[in-house]
Amino acid sequence: MHLIAIGGSDAGISAALRARELDPGAEVSVVVADAYPNFSICGIPYYVSGEVSRWQNLAHRSIADLEATGMWLRLDTTARRIDVAARKLLVTGPDGTEELLGYAKLVAGTGAVPVRPPIGGLAGPDALGADDGVHLLHSMGDTFAVMRTLEQAAPASAVIVGAGYIGLEMADALTVRGLAVTQMEQFGEVLPTVDPELGALVHAELAGHGVEVLTGTTVKAITRAQAGQPGRLQVEASADGKAVTRTADMVLVVVGVRPETVLAAEAGAKLGVKGAIAVDKGMRTNLPDVFAAGDCVVTHHRLLGETYLPLGTTAHKQGRVAGENAIGGNREFAGSLGTQVVKIFDQAAARTGLRDHEAAPAGFAPVTVGSEADDHKAYYPGSHRIHMRVTGDRTTGRLLGLQLFGHRHAEIAKRIDIAATAIFNHMTVDAISDLDLSYTPPLGSPWEAIQMGTQAWVRATQRH
Ligand SMILES: Cc1cc2nc3c(=O)[nH]c(=O)nc-3n(C[C@H](O)[C@H](O)[C@H](O)COP(=O)(O)OP(=O)(O)OC[C@H]3O[C@@H](n4cnc5c(N)ncnc54)[C@H](O)[C@@H]3O)c2cc1C
Repeated sequence: MHLIAIGGSDAGISAALRARELDPGAEVSVVVADAYPNFSICGIPYYVSGEVSRWQNLAHRSIADLEATGMWLRLDTTARRIDVAARKLLVTGPDGTEELLGYAKLVAGTGAVPVRPPIGGLAGPDALGADDGVHLLHSMGDTFAVMRTLEQAAPASAVIVGAGYIGLEMADALTVRGLAVTQMEQFGEVLPTVDPELGALVHAELAGHGVEVLTGTTVKAITRAQAGQPGRLQVEASADGKAVTRTADMVLVVVGVRPETVLAAEAGAKLGVKGAIAVDKGMRTNLPDVFAAGDCVVTHHRLLGETYLPLGTTAHKQGRVAGENAIGGNREFAGSLGTQVVKIFDQAAARTGLRDHEAAPAGFAPVTVGSEADDHKAYYPGSHRIHMRVTGDRTTGRLLGLQLFGHRHAEIAKRIDIAATAIFNHMTVDAISDLDLSYTPPLGSPWEAIQMGTQAWVRATQRH
């Protein structure tokens, strides 16, 4: 039994590890386009900032660790074509030689690629690229290009196009490195994945650390600056119909990703939401013996059904399910809630589940109530306010979502996980008060902050 995983990031490696763990007799190969298997690309901003000193430290596991599990790594090897009928994979190796690899089962973990938005200067024969200081960011290769710009061109300023979570992490990272950062976001507030009330707090944190934040600002073109201008690049944007222009030494375009599906699609795989590979909950594609997982597939969401929500946590789980099923198991991916958290300088923002505009079209009757509480008893030094937005269903009382903003040491990530666990288990907002959660004054309150938030929701909705 030969299992081939295509892709050496979260999904592909998780599949290979699980298969080897369950069946030490299984022959498992991982085909990886670059030389960096099992790297934590989520950690890239912290290598760029200098907080992680060596890129090698970003490896979840070393090549030796991976090989010690018995998997066979084929690095710098690109999968070109899947012959489904013959169960063969055509690959090109490091020296350009083509080879046909036979497989019994295949897991596609080809991931995602950064979206290249329709901004002048990013496409065409004269497109600006890494050598000009214009970067996209997803892979270790992209990271090395960013580092070359930082180390060789010593930029003093940067424009970041996009204020999603990666854009925010990079604003933090480049500021820590000493660059003057301008962040441009086309939506009305930064971090559009949370309500604007919390986005405004993120905005204030960025501004408080000297980031120039331009919201409602759509970037139109990036050009080389004229001689004598302060930066080597010029970014032209518009806000409310007015032209906005900034010069900078480097530009980072981070406006999201799209699934990388060419290989699977050319083999006949059905595509679903956002063009991602359609899979069932067992991570099976419509092609016989071909599974897929991670950022290249549609996401089963516990409240929404099918959507596309590319996240590292999800890719790990889906890869594990694909690996288990590929060797004959029958596991299902239980579904995502889109749980995520981001650190912005000294603060963190997190969300799980749904916001109003996502819940209503899915048939819920959402109500969101904002509140605040201390992370621990305020009489003990060092307490921080936590800003919460609890979303519940007015008809059933079910907890649908939670958004949090607070100090990075206020356990924002672990607190959002309380809500994620509750939503996963279909709890009502009211029932959160019944949870037996821990307390000591330096670390919490008799009523945990989240319980105070859900009680505020119950009070507000009972008055209606
Ligand atoms: C800067 C950054 C920060 C992030 N932070 C977080 C975070 O904090 N939390 C979180 O949950 N998620 C985060 N993510 C998202 C997370 O990293 C991704 O969701 C996750 O890595 C997806 O894993 P994947 O295996 O599906 O795909 P990818 O990581 O995209 O990997 C795809 C793999 O497939 C290989 N490949 C593609 N095509 C071929 C081919 N034809 N032949 C051979 N190999 C091929 C690639 O080389 C790569 O190894 C972050 C992403 C970035 C870029």
